[in-house]
Amino acid sequence: MSERGFILVKIGEITLKGNNRRYFENRLMDNLKEAVRGLHHVKVAKEFGRMYMNYDLSEEAEVLEKAQRVFGLVALCPGVEVDPDFDRISAAAVAQVKALKAETGMTRFKVEARRSDKRFPMTSPEICRDLGGVLLSSIEGLQVDVHAPQFLVNVEIRDRAYIYSREIRCHGGMPYGTAGKAALLLSGGIDSPVAGWMMARRGVTLSAVHFHSYPFTSERAQEKVYDLARQLAVFTGSIEVTSINLLEIQQAIMENCPEEEMTILSRRFMMALAEQVAKENGSQALVTGENIGQVASQTIEGLTVTNARVSLPVFRPLIAYDKNDIVEVAKRIGTYETSILPFEDCCTVFLPSKVVTKPRLAQIEASEANLDVEGLIQRALEGKEVLRFER
Ligand code: ATP
Ligand code: MG
Repeated sequence: MSERGFILVKIGEITLKGNNRRYFENRLMDNLKEAVRGLHHVKVAKEFGRMYMNYDLSEEAEVLEKAQRVFGLVALCPGVEVDPDFDRISAAAVAQVKALKAETGMTRFKVEARRSDKRFPMTSPEICRDLGGVLLSSIEGLQVDVHAPQFLVNVEIRDRAYIYSREIRCHGGMPYGTAGKAALLLSGGIDSPVAGWMMARRGVTLSAVHFHSYPFTSERAQEKVYDLARQLAVFTGSIEVTSINLLEIQQAIMENCPEEEMTILSRRFMMALAEQVAKENGSQALVTGENIGQVASQTIEGLTVTNARVSLPVFRPLIAYDKNDIVEVAKRIGTYETSILPFEDCCTVFLPSKVVTKPRLAQIEASEANLDVEGLIQRALEGKEVLRFER
């Protein structure tokens, strides 16, 4: 049989799941299979309590790239699979360690062997000793270090032999689709895509709701939000975006309410509209990128007043993050470059010259009484557009 690539898949928290473990593992396997769909020779399997992938070596880079984005994985250990014969194992290990040393400069290693198939003629300690010797004599500059090795050369003997010495860290979390569904208020900014990604990493299925003020906001601004949705779909597989025009609402607020309440009043409409969409598409919670203290409207008083508009729970995973930390995540997940494109947002179109930082609910509700709230909400929902984006 030819040399095939193989990846030992390390899963994290799922192993804590007791009786539900199988449910989470099966979901993870399905998500992994879905992530590498389109590649020809990949198999995802579970055997002896471990999950692994098996593929044609020519597809290795792609398999790793796609698999790395699947939530629930802690690490991928790519290696090779050969016939269970010591010479073949040695040849494969030498090639692997040579490449690893060239790439990383690491030299201090330790061999770890595990023999599940007792038909193999050497014991695990013998494999460690002999393979260590072969590596030392074949590659210059290596050193055995059993106490603090820089890398492990793992050998597992089953029906075939598996050799791996690299470990690629993944995002961890829980398998997507195992923790209910939530509606993400997705703007074109830096924060909300990150907030959505963090919830998705916990297994929460996302749908997105975006508000625009077309034609005051442009089609390019809308396209930017769709690009962000596509970037989230790289991790989630697909995502549905509901776009709602807020223009009539913003104009009504401008004409009938105090200027400094513009932001808080539009925010309450956004929440109410998002909650309607959530209830229609089966979402059980709302998610925003709000963050305490970041802008004038994001005070405890401001959040209290927006929160009071809805009855679904509102998750704000970034509430206590520093901006730098949010930017770091945005860069890591690939949304940052899109987020900083300078297109106008519906909030910037009607940016008031002053903002109430400590709104009182009674006062805000009194202002809303000047508006035909139900009519405005109904008309905004009637004009909504729904699109689905795939990975
Ligand atoms: P972001 O970078 O996510 O836009 P921000 O720091 O600019 O956040 P705000 O503009 O005050 O903060 O918005 C706070 C949150 O309200 C956003 O994270 C998002 O969840 C929601 N939101 C704001 N504008 C919109 C919009 N146009 N469409 C959908 N949700 C929005
Ligand atoms: Mg914003």
